[in-house]
Amino acid sequence: MAWTLSQLVEATNGVLTGELLGEDPIRFDSVSTDTRTLKSGALYAALKGANFDGHAFIAEAVKQGAVAVLISEPVETIVPSVLVEDTRIALGEFAAWHRQKMQLKALIGVTGSNGKTTTKALLANILAKQAQVLATAGNLNNDYGLPRTLLELTSSDDYAVIEMGANHHREIHYLTKIARPDVAVITLAAGAHLEGFGSLDGVIETKGEIMDGLKPGGTIVLNTDSPGFEVWCAKAKRLDLKVFSFGESEQANVRLAAFQQNHDRIHFTLRLTCLDGAERSVQTSMPMLGFHNAMNAAAAVAACLAVGLTWEQIQPGLEDFDGVAGRLQKSALPQGVLIDDTYNANPASVKAAIRTLAGLPGESVACLGAMAELGAESQSLHEDVARYAKEKGVASLLVFGVAAQSMPEAFGEGGEYFETQDALIARAIQLLEQNQVQNALVKGSRSTQMEKVSQAIVATV
Ligand code: ATP
Ligand code: MG
Repeated sequence: MAWTLSQLVEATNGVLTGELLGEDPIRFDSVSTDTRTLKSGALYAALKGANFDGHAFIAEAVKQGAVAVLISEPVETIVPSVLVEDTRIALGEFAAWHRQKMQLKALIGVTGSNGKTTTKALLANILAKQAQVLATAGNLNNDYGLPRTLLELTSSDDYAVIEMGANHHREIHYLTKIARPDVAVITLAAGAHLEGFGSLDGVIETKGEIMDGLKPGGTIVLNTDSPGFEVWCAKAKRLDLKVFSFGESEQANVRLAAFQQNHDRIHFTLRLTCLDGAERSVQTSMPMLGFHNAMNAAAAVAACLAVGLTWEQIQPGLEDFDGVAGRLQKSALPQGVLIDDTYNANPASVKAAIRTLAGLPGESVACLGAMAELGAESQSLHEDVARYAKEKGVASLLVFGVAAQSMPEAFGEGGEYFETQDALIARAIQLLEQNQVQNALVKGSRSTQMEKVSQAIVATV
């Protein structure tokens, strides 16, 4: 893509200063916010964060080949600049402007408390068998990552799959207004009392904001089994949006009707009620573990049907999708499986992983790092997860991290707390080597770096 500075000015209402362009307008072909990765010919956008100010790196950006800069403070520089009030918002405005120019078959937005990246990656895998797809890379789902992603759209893309994440109210509202989805998915709402939202109602409301930016007549894909389903349906009605649903309940358009898991695949039946009212039942499988991944698949299937794909078009990309790194990845152990779900953790995702672990043949150990950002209810939420693990039949619960300290007591026999990660690793290896357990789950919030535990177990056992 190549843009002119006057397009940037038009989109952001900025003020152009510096060398004027006359008949030979200055063009830039990428947008960068980081001089370490800036490519020659880029626009450099100077962002301000809590610990840095991009304006300090303008000379460096120009040296790397930036042809213009987007700024919120007047700065002396030899390249033209566009001055705006807030560069982060200007980046969003420019991305919104660019997205509107693109003639996509559909842009699909994905939000929810869990499963966004997995559902997004699965959707991209399915759609890529049919056409050209741009999807959010990794987890770039915030007010910085989403505009950056949209600016990568080119006229040869047919579909875009865009992840939207939030820590606070109105963030999804902001993102969806930029992305303007044709179809949007809410995977689920979970986790009462999360910091930033106040309550489960707060979470429900925030996820529902994704509808604010849906194109008129667009479709919202909703989980019939999630708290908030009725609230979202009512909002969709007010906004005159179509609802297409997935879940285990009778009313779901894509109903997860049967589920089975063996060592390396999940097998499930989907009952489809297509947009034209036609009904059919399909059996499918994926090289992944976890009931919740069958739910993520149902969400993706619903979104694909909503953009007009047939089951025959959906099936190949569903059945060869083997997941996203760090999310429920499986490695073989001598007598069983290790599930590495170390990317991150909150109560709903830990329970989903425990359910997966407990569904495997054999005895199991759960190695859990503490969950972060749970606010005042942190202790009781940790204890609740511990009781859930016991209830599901997990034999041994090894925990690490101060916030997890009260879990062993809630778990009862087989629960142990460790001061250090190394001590936890040693105990887990002992249990596996003595064949007291055959399967292991390793999971924790990002800050607990539990991937080191799974690496050590796989390397030793
Ligand atoms: P983030 O908010 O960090 O971007 P995300 O919503 O993108 O997370 P994923 O990265 O897809 O979610 O998955 C993170 C973890 O959440 C997984 O490792 C898994 O344990 C859990 N998870 C995924 N899908 C679901 C689901 N449908 N229900 C409950 N838990 C899920
Ligand atoms: Mg994500």
